[in-house]
Amino acid sequence: MILDGKKIIVVGIGISGRAASLLLKKQGAIVYAIDSHTTQELSQVAKKLKTKGIRVELGKYTPGFVKAADLIVVSPGVKDGSDILDIAESRSIPIISEIELASWFCKGPIIAVTGTNGKSTIVTLIGLMLEASGKRPVVCGNIGKAFSEAVLDIREGQPAVVEVSSFQLKRIDKFKPKIALISNITQNHFDWHGNFIDYFASKKNIYKNQDSSDFCILNYDDKKIMALEHELGSRVYYYSVKKKVRGAYLKGGDLILNTDANEKKICSISDIELPGRHNVSNILACTLCSYLAGAGLKDIVGALTRFKGLDHRFQQVSTIDGVRYINDSKATTVDACKAALNSCAENVILIAGGRDKGSDYKVIKELVRDKVKSIILIGEAKEKIRADLAGAANMFEASSIDEAVAISRERAASGDTVLLSPMCASFDMFSNYKDRGSAFKQAVLRLQAV
Ligand code: ADP
Repeated sequence: MILDGKKIIVVGIGISGRAASLLLKKQGAIVYAIDSHTTQELSQVAKKLKTKGIRVELGKYTPGFVKAADLIVVSPGVKDGSDILDIAESRSIPIISEIELASWFCKGPIIAVTGTNGKSTIVTLIGLMLEASGKRPVVCGNIGKAFSEAVLDIREGQPAVVEVSSFQLKRIDKFKPKIALISNITQNHFDWHGNFIDYFASKKNIYKNQDSSDFCILNYDDKKIMALEHELGSRVYYYSVKKKVRGAYLKGGDLILNTDANEKKICSISDIELPGRHNVSNILACTLCSYLAGAGLKDIVGALTRFKGLDHRFQQVSTIDGVRYINDSKATTVDACKAALNSCAENVILIAGGRDKGSDYKVIKELVRDKVKSIILIGEAKEKIRADLAGAANMFEASSIDEAVAISRERAASGDTVLLSPMCASFDMFSNYKDRGSAFKQAVLRLQAV
C-alpha cells in the first residue's frame, strides 16, 4: 500500500503505537493517533508525536476522522467491539496490527516467534546464536523495541527476530515470516480474547501467508500445535524432548539436530547452564531455527552454552540455609508455573497469586500435591487459587511480597525450594512483573543479610 497522503489512524500510543505513528509519518501519511487513556506518560508521548506533525487526541476522538480514514493501525490491548473498530468495520476500513505494518518495510528475512510461554527466552537466544554466526540480527517486537521502530534500520539479509503476541497476530494481512516458530499453546489471556478458539486462531495466523519457500517450526510435544500440521503450506520441522523427530530432539542426555540425512550432536544437557526441562525444549527450538536461518552449528553451540537466561524467568536468586530461592515472576500463566514445578524437586514453597487472567488453576492440582509443601497466596486471585487447589497443599496468605518471603522462610527447611511463580499478572500490586520480581529478590537478599 502506498502510504503517502493516506489518512491513517493509530489506535493506542503505547510502545508499538507510537513507533507505528512515527513510521507512518516518515512514509508521508497523514497520521491521527488516539488513546483512550490520559496518563501523564501518555501526555508526554503525545507532545513528542505532535512535534513530528502527528495529530493526537487523548481520552476522546473525533469520529469524523475515523470515518474518513484509509487505514487503521490498532495496538494490542484494544478490544474487538470497541467503538472505533466498529466504525471502521461498518465502513470496511482495513484494520491492521503494528507488526503487519512494520513487515511491509522489512528488507531482511523475518523470523517470527509465538506461543504462550517462552517467546522472550527463545527470541533472545536465537538473536545470540545468529549474532555469534555474524548475521547481525535485530531482535524486536514484544520483547522491547517495537518492530516498527527497528524496521527501517534492517538491511537486506539482516534477520528480524520478532516476538509476536496473539494480539498482534490477530490483525495481520500479508505478514509472511521466512521462519515461523510456535513454542506452545495453552490457555492465556482469556480476559482479552474471550475464548480459547479466538486465541488459537490468532496464533495460527503466524503461518497463514507462508509458502514452500518458508519454514515453520512446531513443538512436537504440544498436541494442540501438532493438530495444525496438515494446514501448513511451508516446510515443517519439529522439536521434541520426548521423541525422535525431523528437526531437533533429545536423545538420552544429548541434544540432536536432525534436519538432513546426517544427524549431528548439538551438545549434552550437562553443557547447558539454563535450568529447567522447558529450557531444553526452548534450546532445541532455537538451535533448529538458527540452523535453518543459516547459522553454523559451532557458533550456535557457543552461544547456547554461554546463555544464562533472562531475569525473572526461573532465575535462582540465592541459597540461604540450604533453601533455594527462585524468582519466576514472569510466570503469569498456569503452564509456566507447571514448567517451573516440573523443574524442581519436591518440597516447594510456592508463592502464587496476583491479578487473575481467567485461568483454571485446577489443572495443576495433582502436580501441586506432588511437589508443593505450602502455598503462600498473594493478591486479588487468592480466593480463586485457594478454591481451585483446596486440599493439595497447606495454604497461607500474605499481603506483600516481603511478608510472603518471611512466611516462606519460616516454613522452609534445608533442601526445600521457595519459588515465586505467580500464575497471574502483577498489576494488582506492582506496575509489572519486573517490579514484582525485583521486590522478591530484594526481600530474599535482605534475608541473606540478616
Ligand atoms: P514469554 O515471552 O512467552 O512470556 P518468557 O521467555 O518470558 O516467555 O517466559 C515466561 C515464563 O514462561 C517464565 O516463567 C518461563 O520460565 C516460562 N517458560 C519459558 N519457556 C517455557 C516453555 N517452553 N514451557 C513452559 N513455560 C516456559
